[in-house]
Amino acid sequence: MNKKELQHTEDLLWIVTDNKGTVIHYNNAFHLLVCNDIQNSVLQYVHPTEVKSFKRILKNTAEKQKSNIFDVRLKFNTSSYKWFETKVSVSTDATINITFYLIDKRKKEIIQLKDALSKEKYLSQMKSKFVSTTSHEIRTPLSIIKSSAEVMMMFLETINDEKLSKSFMNYLVNINNESDRLSRLINDVLIMQKADMDMIECNKQSTDILSLIMHTIERHNLIQKDGRIMNLTITGTPSNVMIDPTLFEYIIDNLFSNAFKYSQNSNNPDCLISYSSIGFNVSVKDYGIGIPEEDINQIFNLFYRANNAKLIKGTGLGLNIVKKLVELQNGTVLVKSQLNKETEFNIIFHHNS
Ligand code: ADP
Repeated sequence: MNKKELQHTEDLLWIVTDNKGTVIHYNNAFHLLVCNDIQNSVLQYVHPTEVKSFKRILKNTAEKQKSNIFDVRLKFNTSSYKWFETKVSVSTDATINITFYLIDKRKKEIIQLKDALSKEKYLSQMKSKFVSTTSHEIRTPLSIIKSSAEVMMMFLETINDEKLSKSFMNYLVNINNESDRLSRLINDVLIMQKADMDMIECNKQSTDILSLIMHTIERHNLIQKDGRIMNLTITGTPSNVMIDPTLFEYIIDNLFSNAFKYSQNSNNPDCLISYSSIGFNVSVKDYGIGIPEEDINQIFNLFYRANNAKLIKGTGLGLNIVKKLVELQNGTVLVKSQLNKETEFNIIFHHNS
C-alpha cells in the first residue's frame, strides 16, 4: 500500500500502545504512511495543539476502560498533517488499541461549515430579537411624547397671548411630526424583520379598497404643508376585492407618502383605480423630481436611495417592503419615471392569482 492508495480508500491505520502512548505494535499502513521512522510515542505524530487532549483521552480510556472516538491531526509525512477519525479502546491485556481513519477533506469542511452556519443562525436570531424588543420598547415612550405634545397644543389654543402661543405651537408641531416619523420608521423596521423571517400573515378577505384608499387620501391631504391634495379617478365598476386590508393600506400609504414627498411644490399627484373583469390596479403618479435612469432598477432594493433623493429625508426601506407585500399577495408592482417630470407606480392584482 502507498500514500495514494490510503487517500482513496480511507484505509485503516492501527497501533497498540501502553497507557502512556508508547507504541508496542503497528500495522503496515501506519508504518508506511505515518512513520517510516518509528518513534517511541504515538504523541510524536500528533499535531502539537492536540497533544494535550490526546494524552488526556489515553489516560481516561485506560482508567475508565471506556472507548473514545475523536478527530486528531497526525503528521502525514515530515511536514504536513491530516485529519484522522481516531478510536481508542482498552484490550483485555491492558494495552491500548488505537485506530485511525483518514477523514475526507470535504467531510471535514462540511463539519466546519455546519458549525459556522449554526453560529450564524444563532447570531441572526439574537439580532432579530434585539431589533424587535427595542422597537417595541420605543413605541410606548414615543406615544407618550406624542400625546403629551397634543395635550399641550390643545392647552396653547386656550391661551390669549398670541405671540407666545404661536412660537410654542411651532415647537410642538415639530415634536408631533418627528414622533410620527419615528413611529413610521419603527413600524417599517418591525415589518421588515417579520418579512425576513417569513412571518408576515396574509389574511385575504373581501375588501372595499375604494373606501380604504379614500380614507388614506384624506389622511395624507390633511398633513400637506403646501396644501396639495391627491386627485382620485376611478375607471370600471367598483367592487370588493380579495386582499389583506392591513397590508394593502401599508402599500398605498407608502406610495402616497412618496408621491407627495418627492414632488414638493409641484402639481397635485394622481391616484387612479381601475377595476376590470380580471382584477384591479392602482396607479399613483406624481409630477416631481423623477427617478434617474441609472437608479430605477434598484429602488426596490433594501436601503437603496436614488442620487437625486439624498437631500430629502428617507430610509430606503419603504419600497422594499411594498414589493414584498404586493408579491406576498401574488400581485405585481411596476414603476416608470422621467427625470424632473413624473413618476408612476402601478400595482396590479388579478382575481385568480
Ligand atoms: P425612502 O423614500 O425612505 O428613501 P423608499 O424605499 O420609499 O425609501 O424609496 C426608495 C427610493 O426610491 C427613494 O429614496 C427615491 O430615490 C426613490 N423614489 C421612490 N418614490 C419616488 C417618487 N415618487 N419620486 C421619485 N423618487 C422616488
